[in-house]
Amino acid sequence: MADVSMQKVFKRYGKAEVIHGVDLQIDDGEFVVFVGPSGCGKSTLLRMISGLEEISEGDLFIGGEQMNDVPPAKRGIAMVFQSYALYPHLAARGNLEFGLKLQGVNKSERDRRVQRAADILQITELLDRRPKDMSGGQRQRVAIGRAIVRNPSVFLFDEPLSNLDAKLRVQMRQELAQLHGRLNTTMIYVTHDQVEAMTMADKIVVLQDGFVEQVGSPMDLYHRPRNRFVAGFIGSPGMNFLPATARGQGQATVELAGDVSFDVPLAEGMGAQGQVAIGIRPEHLKISGEKADAGTLRGEVSVIERLGAESYAYVRTEVGQVIVKADGDLPVKIDERIQIVIDPKRVHLFDDHDIVLTAGTA
Ligand code: ADP
Ligand code: MG
Repeated sequence: MADVSMQKVFKRYGKAEVIHGVDLQIDDGEFVVFVGPSGCGKSTLLRMISGLEEISEGDLFIGGEQMNDVPPAKRGIAMVFQSYALYPHLAARGNLEFGLKLQGVNKSERDRRVQRAADILQITELLDRRPKDMSGGQRQRVAIGRAIVRNPSVFLFDEPLSNLDAKLRVQMRQELAQLHGRLNTTMIYVTHDQVEAMTMADKIVVLQDGFVEQVGSPMDLYHRPRNRFVAGFIGSPGMNFLPATARGQGQATVELAGDVSFDVPLAEGMGAQGQVAIGIRPEHLKISGEKADAGTLRGEVSVIERLGAESYAYVRTEVGQVIVKADGDLPVKIDERIQIVIDPKRVHLFDDHDIVLTAGTA
């Protein structure tokens, strides 16, 4: 068991700086997810924690000990990769105990640890099988088992589910969450998939271009994004952003093209004066047959995606395309003219630097 702390950590490859001074505190036993688009620095950050990548500047502590120059094998960590990285000529048992043999762990202790990992992951019947005779999901379980047998104080996962099909990903997501519940060990998990982040994390770290954009619980980020990047990244389909003007201190009067106007409360000490973007999630908009009031957008339906339980209407309006979540049986047709009701309490406002002006939606 260990906490992980990064202080002003930079990574440079020659002149190219890819991590720009990251400060991060990961508590003992937490499940933390690093999420962000491809190339934002997630793997680099994880590899610096593991010791596979050198830290150019700054400090890394694991369990209170400075680890910058400690070799990977001595950091008390175990890493699981997207590629599984299993030895093809060894059966599952051989793969699981390989690292333990290297460490000089005796046979009875090896057998005990392998059996415990196999029980946890329910792979006992695979122990004598080689990777080529396993499915992708089974290989991934063996790769996770290889991490478990080491009894690490921190687990590191780099996109471990990306090679699995959609259904298996959902199942493995639940299994990893259960594994964390069972072991209660610190886990750091890297993914580009915001759904994985939302469903598994105690704490999400959103990264962009080598900077930490925001750290918070899943619902924190959903309701209280600090900026437009986080607002747009969390949630699917993503938040609608519409151009508007806003004026006021403490509370702003928002105006959109097409004579749409309403008042929005601002966060403490915040004021608005001029161009803003309104952010509103598809699930926070309502379709209405008649014009409700001043906070009502008008438009024509261009596409309806029916998923069964719900549908998404793509609506052309004077301020651009708006996506609205509705019932699966939503009784509207393509090209139908509809009204979209905006609930001001569900609105986020972003200034011209993409910083949020509102206090959040819950
Ligand atoms: P992610 O895992 O979020 O997709 P990475 O951490 O792999 O992103 O990469 C972050 C950035 O660092 C990228 O711009 C990538 O091109 C750059 N990078 C990674 N490894 C190297 C390297 N060995 N040399 C130079 N640049 C690198
Ligand atoms: Mg990566």
